[in-house]
Amino acid sequence: MQNAINYSKSIAVKGNYDVLVAGSGPAGICAAVAAAREGAKVALIERYGVVGGNLTTGYVGPILGMVGKGTMRDELVKLLGVPQNDMIGETGRAHDFEMAKILLAEFVDHPNIDVYLQTTVTDVIKEGQTLRGVIVTAGEGPFALMGKIVIDATGDGLVSFLAGAPTEKGRDDGLMQPVTLEFTIAGVDESKGVICIGDVDNVCLGEERFLDYCKRLADAGELPQHLAAVRLHPTTHSGERQVNTTQQNGIDMTNVDQIYKADLALRRQIRTLVDFFHKHLPGYESCRLISSGTTTGVRETRRVIGDYIITAEQMAAGCRFDDVIVHRAEFIVDIHNPAGAGQAEDHIQYCDPYDLPYRCFTPKGIENLYTAGRCISGTHRAHASYRVMSICMAMGEAVGVAAAMCASRGCCTRELDVKALQNRLTEKGIELYG
Ligand SMILES: Cc1cc2nc3c(=O)[nH]c(=O)nc-3n(C[C@H](O)[C@H](O)[C@H](O)COP(=O)(O)OP(=O)(O)OC[C@H]3O[C@@H](n4cnc5c(N)ncnc54)[C@H](O)[C@@H]3O)c2cc1C
Repeated sequence: MQNAINYSKSIAVKGNYDVLVAGSGPAGICAAVAAAREGAKVALIERYGVVGGNLTTGYVGPILGMVGKGTMRDELVKLLGVPQNDMIGETGRAHDFEMAKILLAEFVDHPNIDVYLQTTVTDVIKEGQTLRGVIVTAGEGPFALMGKIVIDATGDGLVSFLAGAPTEKGRDDGLMQPVTLEFTIAGVDESKGVICIGDVDNVCLGEERFLDYCKRLADAGELPQHLAAVRLHPTTHSGERQVNTTQQNGIDMTNVDQIYKADLALRRQIRTLVDFFHKHLPGYESCRLISSGTTTGVRETRRVIGDYIITAEQMAAGCRFDDVIVHRAEFIVDIHNPAGAGQAEDHIQYCDPYDLPYRCFTPKGIENLYTAGRCISGTHRAHASYRVMSICMAMGEAVGVAAAMCASRGCCTRELDVKALQNRLTEKGIELYG
């Protein structure tokens, strides 16, 4: 069997842009809109047929975490109609995913943005160590998009990986957080139906802690052990729950051989869970499955090593940096157990509101490339905090403005005057200091 072939082809250059944004999740949409509002000509490239990433196709909610005042996170939370959340989601409600598909499509509808849907980034165009563009594949075949600055908001850090930036995955043994398919059920009796936001929640069913009840039933064989951490979030609609409970361990979603099997197993778990709810959860007897993620929810894959690597210990202490571009980011170190059910650590690490420095967004050794979202430069434990969507939105906005500034000033990402970037962010009303 042949193991490799050489392949070359002449392809069209379909557009020249100031800023290319790969991926339209919470980080990518904010990056694209922020750059466009600064006057940059932007291409937003998304492999699926809808923008939003985990806000839509991944079916992930509620929007968790906090950041300093004045970012696009505030704008999006308002747009999606979710109440001001607390940091860990105790009062949080998942947004309406179907409405989000419309609202976010409108959000990125800006005269300076060309949105390329159903278009997958497959390679990069480099001159030495400087990024010049990307190769994409769409229904019409492959073509190139050239850009002065590229933002890797693919979640998986794919653009950075293709560009040759160093990347890491998972914890020291290589295991990553489990993948999950979130789903929504309707028909829950609100007068009886429990809400449980996760391991930090001590809500009770009668006298017993709800999560202990689920564990006891799992021990009795009524539920697979790895599904015993039953997380049931409210949504913006009465009688609905957003269920964040299915999980498959030991999966690397950057390995295509593993994806279908994981998805099949997760979809089967949805059936198991709904049966369990019918049988064992007061108020859930008549609930029904109404929708689920169209793609597996991926918590963790590549982290792109940048000019600085932030750690959870720094974040826990509320670190500050001279080159801050995201201020007062706040969330727990939320590690869903890579090797079993529930949380990986026996106590939850809280973080004081922390800063993310510019250097976490510049992949080591590569020029004119930024990362944004869950793939930025940090350790496995640090990632478990900054990966939440509020923080990813603020990251996207900050690098979107940075990219637009590089493009208009004709400078590289490492030549950008970070003070000027900070001034521009504060001018826009974004809190960066204090
Ligand atoms: C099951 C689960 C539960 C979670 N729970 C919560 C929660 O309750 N609250 C919360 O705030 N966060 C939660 N998170 C974390 C959060 O959803 C993610 O970390 C966050 O969405 C990351 O944002 P992002 O923009 O970096 O990536 P994503 O949201 O993953 O978006 C990346 C986008 O890039 C696109 N893309 C990827 N590769 C390519 C390519 N080659 N070409 C073109 N496009 C590409 C993808 O299709 C996608 O649209 C959860 C995550 C999971 C998986």
